[in-house]
Amino acid sequence: MVLRPVEQQQAHVLEGVQPLESLDIPLLDAQGCVLARDVTAQWPLPSFDNTSMDGYAVVAADVASASVDSAVTLTVIDDVPAGYRATESVTRGTAIRIMTGAPLPDGADAIVPVESTDGGTEKVSVRQGFPAGQFIRRAGEDVHTGEVVLRAGQQIGAREIAILAAAGHGTAPVHPRPRVVVMSTGNELVEPGTPLKYGLIADSNSVMLVAAARDCGAEAFRAGPVPDDEQRLIDTLDDQLVRADLLVTSGGVSMGAYDTVKAVLSRLGTVEFVKVAMQPGMPQGFGAIGDENVPIVTLPGNPVSSYVSFEVFVRPLIRRLMGFSEVHRPRVLARFTSTMSSPGGKTQFARVSLTVRDGHYVASPVGAQGSHILGGLAQANGLAVIAPEVTEVSEGDVVTVMDLRHSHIAQEPA
Ligand code: AMP
Ligand code: MG
Repeated sequence: MVLRPVEQQQAHVLEGVQPLESLDIPLLDAQGCVLARDVTAQWPLPSFDNTSMDGYAVVAADVASASVDSAVTLTVIDDVPAGYRATESVTRGTAIRIMTGAPLPDGADAIVPVESTDGGTEKVSVRQGFPAGQFIRRAGEDVHTGEVVLRAGQQIGAREIAILAAAGHGTAPVHPRPRVVVMSTGNELVEPGTPLKYGLIADSNSVMLVAAARDCGAEAFRAGPVPDDEQRLIDTLDDQLVRADLLVTSGGVSMGAYDTVKAVLSRLGTVEFVKVAMQPGMPQGFGAIGDENVPIVTLPGNPVSSYVSFEVFVRPLIRRLMGFSEVHRPRVLARFTSTMSSPGGKTQFARVSLTVRDGHYVASPVGAQGSHILGGLAQANGLAVIAPEVTEVSEGDVVTVMDLRHSHIAQEPA
């Protein structure tokens, strides 16, 4: 049996999907999403000349010679807080009291900060001279009308939301969050938190996979657990298809007698089941189902295999649907802290704890590496990627590690 290399299956999965069609989404709902097109400013920023200081709008020539010893006195003819416009114009010998952000009154060409005056409201005594233009923010000095403020492909975070809002946008044209439905299968599965009867286990995969999907930006939901019954599986697939941009199943894809996912989906003929040269996670399936060709990934049931397969195939797929150009986890080089054997001919994804020692990454294997070892998985924050041709990693060797510490909310370095 020829195993398909991991990279080949990854590429195949990514080629099978496109970024979701762009939607205008309210700014705060667009947080974490990727812009589908360039966005331009609706108006200049600032959109009017205004003051950067609390103080007095003056004719600069009036105060040019002012000093502590020879203060200049001006008549205060108006008072403008931010949000208002002066009704008077500044002329020689007069001043308008003004607050930060208020529009520059006609006739004025400089602002004297309140700290350089006596703060008067009828008359003001100015103790320092300022040149024309001082403390004035000019219209358009930040951004011009029609200027591109954000480029397609950029992820929306706090800073991007600020410029969009300031430049006239209440929504952002983004690739929406994919709606991911996670279906776990297995007669042995019970709802997490409920007592177990002998032989049953908690359905940890579906909650794990929903959390993992949310963590990379999707809106994810659980369906199931679905019993190992073909008709029940078909019915659940039918129900869920309408609300999914991606279906992810767990379990039922190996060679067992009750592996319904493989049995049902094989008959439809649109999902390809392959053995991938990886450990854990060898049995993989990918294709599309339903009239709308909803992509579907079938993950193995063993919890660690399921998680690793999610990281290797599903997370990149979700990020592609979201419009990210970089879909893979960041990888770092780390020194391995022990000796471990690795299966020849398969890429091993070893759970490791990644730490920094003296400015360098160190990767320590956590737990046993069996695909049912969930306790070890919870200690890990990295997956060491051991190439198929490597059969042993020794203490001190440098290994490549997928860094699992990032969540989509934090913008990953390009
Ligand atoms: P399967 O791929 O369905 O043969 O399942 C392989 C192993 O994973 C079995 O030991 C299952 O009990 C376990 N398993 C399957 N689905 C889940 C799940 N949703 N949560 C936890 N363990 C599971
Ligand atoms: Mg099963």
